[in-house]
Amino acid sequence: MDPIDLLGVADTFSDEERLIRDTVRQFVDAKVRPNVGRWFADGTFPRELAPELGELGLFGMHLKGYGCAGASATAYGIACMELEAVDSGLRSFVSVQGSLAMTAIHKFGSEEQKQTWLPKMAAGELIGCFGLTEPDFGSNPAGMRTTATLVNGEWVLNGSKLWITNGGIADVAVVWARAEEGIRGFVVPRGTKGFSTRDIKDKLSLRASVTSELILEDCVLPADAVLPDSRGLRAPLSCLNEARFGILWGAVGAARDCYATALEYAKTRVQFDRPIAGFQLTQEKLVGMVLELEKAFLTAVHIGRLKDAGRCETAHVSFGKLNNVRAALEIARQARTILAASGITTEYSVLRHANNLESVLTYEGTSEIHTLVLGEAVTGIGAYR
Ligand SMILES: Cc1cc2nc3c(=O)[nH]c(=O)nc-3n(C[C@H](O)[C@H](O)[C@H](O)COP(=O)(O)OP(=O)(O)OC[C@H]3O[C@@H](n4cnc5c(N)ncnc54)[C@H](O)[C@@H]3O)c2cc1C
Repeated sequence: MDPIDLLGVADTFSDEERLIRDTVRQFVDAKVRPNVGRWFADGTFPRELAPELGELGLFGMHLKGYGCAGASATAYGIACMELEAVDSGLRSFVSVQGSLAMTAIHKFGSEEQKQTWLPKMAAGELIGCFGLTEPDFGSNPAGMRTTATLVNGEWVLNGSKLWITNGGIADVAVVWARAEEGIRGFVVPRGTKGFSTRDIKDKLSLRASVTSELILEDCVLPADAVLPDSRGLRAPLSCLNEARFGILWGAVGAARDCYATALEYAKTRVQFDRPIAGFQLTQEKLVGMVLELEKAFLTAVHIGRLKDAGRCETAHVSFGKLNNVRAALEIARQARTILAASGITTEYSVLRHANNLESVLTYEGTSEIHTLVLGEAVTGIGAYR
């Protein structure tokens, strides 16, 4: 019996899924794990990892054509799980690139936009970001103030976007703005006049990830910068649903890493002449952790299979995101108590994961908003307002 996967959930993976898991795990263990504590402490993200992640086929992994891997939803989820087992910042980088920026272009872009951007983004040569949230409109993006106006056949964008992952390192931003006909998506290349970014410093969470403000001041774009098939808020929300699917898997990875770290520590740390794993109180914590870990893992696999069968609904993704991130955060905090003082530095992953998961709980729909999505699913009554 595997103490990290007591129910043997991963035994249900296909050979291909196992290969993807092992490949991503080997990559992150070799290239990321030895350095990530330092990147977190320094507040940096190594952009130079992008081509290697691209070579592994991780960007837009679930998309078809344009250099994308065309993998199953479950395979993509497994990759997210392995990425986030090392750091939520790395998984965020991949999610935003693939599930948000590339998915928006893939779903709503013109053939020319797809040809221009997607192959290079899939290869990790170009980095993308996705600007929906604004300073005054987070959970309720419908109120966004960023405008897009057609002036003499060109689009003029004005406004700002806040908390944008990859913003400061992005070569291209997918920006959502209010046009006369409703909310539309725009492809904004870096270097466009009137478009600038400012990184948010002093974060205590997701430090190994770039988070930025996007500023649009009379930013002039050609007529074909609009994503032609994007109309209304449904367009960005459908991309967010893809990213949330990656998150519900990623959270399992972070939780697993915390549990595995705590288990190993408990077996080797001696107090009162015995390993602390021999104390009933420690065992209760470890068992509580593995119960929640395996339930979250089962949830992820089930939602992955639903998605591959074309039967995954928005509420399923909300279920997974709400449950799995909440569980992962609790496991990370419990793990920290088992490591006690050793748990508070970057030498071990547990408090880094816990701090990261605070952001994961908030972004892509807060836990409260996902509770409301599920509340509506079970009662039939929306309670957002
Ligand atoms: C590290 C990080 C990276 C991010 N990356 C991106 C990105 O790449 N692109 C992007 O567009 N955005 C991004 N975001 C923004 C994120 O999606 C928003 O933070 C999130 O949607 C919440 O918005 P807010 O922070 O403005 O909180 P608010 O919406 O102001 O919410 C504040 C509190 O009120 C609660 N609340 C709000 N409405 C209701 C209601 N109807 N009922 C009950 N409670 C409610 C919320 O749940 C929360 O607890 C990122 C955020 C972080 C922290």
